[in-house]
Amino acid sequence: MTIQPKLGDEGSRREKIDPLSSCLDEYALDGRIHLNGNSLGAPRHNLVPALERLVSGQWAPLQVRGWFHEGWLELPRTIGDKLGALLGAAPGQVVVAGETTSTTLFNVLVAACRLRSDRPVLLAEQESFPTDLYIAASVARLLDRDLVAVPRADLDIRLRDHGDQVAAALTSPVDFRTGERRDIGATTALCHHAGAISVWDLSHAAGVLPVDLDANDVDLAVGCGYKYLGGGPGAPAFTYVPARHQPDVDFPLAGWHGHARPFTMVPGFEPADGIDRARTGTPPVLSLAGLDHALDPLLEAGIEALYRRSRELSDYFLACLEESRPDLARQLVSPRDARRRGGHLAVRVPDAERVEHELAERGVHVDSRPPDLIRFAFAPLYVTKDHIRQVVDILTAVA
Ligand SMILES: *Cc1c(COP(=O)(O)O)cnc(C)c1O
Repeated sequence: MTIQPKLGDEGSRREKIDPLSSCLDEYALDGRIHLNGNSLGAPRHNLVPALERLVSGQWAPLQVRGWFHEGWLELPRTIGDKLGALLGAAPGQVVVAGETTSTTLFNVLVAACRLRSDRPVLLAEQESFPTDLYIAASVARLLDRDLVAVPRADLDIRLRDHGDQVAAALTSPVDFRTGERRDIGATTALCHHAGAISVWDLSHAAGVLPVDLDANDVDLAVGCGYKYLGGGPGAPAFTYVPARHQPDVDFPLAGWHGHARPFTMVPGFEPADGIDRARTGTPPVLSLAGLDHALDPLLEAGIEALYRRSRELSDYFLACLEESRPDLARQLVSPRDARRRGGHLAVRVPDAERVEHELAERGVHVDSRPPDLIRFAFAPLYVTKDHIRQVVDILTAVA
């Protein structure tokens, strides 16, 4: 039986006219429903022909000359500028160096601490994605600072009351478990008032939520390329350094692609001007091409429309769940107000891992977090209200 919530008819009618719902055909979903775009985004159908053009049309005929004749060397910056459009960053401030989010964060956190060499504390949140805390602890050890990890709810208070000790504060606009948002502008302003550097991990926001990096006066940011951005398994991460910090920022990963004149092969590191100094080594061109390809429909839609659509979908999911499984809807861990959360919802579900598995058996991808959370993510371009009704039907049967 298919549930038809009361708002279903009106929902379906609007669905037909929603300009973003037409993007669905672009994605290779293989008949499956992807509510885990916060973990690994879905591929587009024509990714393979795009990669084929790169391999057969550029690499094979040009070989090593491809670096100079096909813009491969500039890809970290050209893709960075495209990302900038989704992140509210003017050109020349975002780069995709070719590292993981973890190595990128390492690079940025050390640089942040070096900008405040007289301050002992690296501030972070206990609820952070684990790699962020591992990296922060290692940076603190390396630079002889103290990592202070406070509950997420106390970060702003800590900055207000003891901010004068803080070199850098690492936080995120969306809690990776609960989906709860943090006001980027407000926390950044507290950092600045305290004289600290604000470092943002945008992994759970990029591609689904406006982050307005320039307008919010953010100091440094990193983010993951394979979640809502859809760059593919292991897609490289990005770095944001606003123009005002570029002359002073000193990255520990001083590789030749971050050098002012990489091809002169001179001894001694001299950082490049501008965002190029955040680069490290030879960029992974095939992976960058995958990320580049993934960005086109996101850019076409624009971040405000993506955000609006994602909120509409998550609200619809909640309305369906409230109608068919009010008991589960009451176990919502995320804020009920869509404006206070990112692109996903987290619900406490008994036996979450088994339920995740049962959903997967029926072609629905979600992801569980021990011990009892299931996260449902609403990637705006390949999730529809029809999908959501199906998922809630299945959930009703298996949870
Ligand atoms: C997904 C995610 C990462 C991933 O790190 P990798 O090094 O790319 O594996 C890091 N931080 C946060 C907050 C994330 O959500």
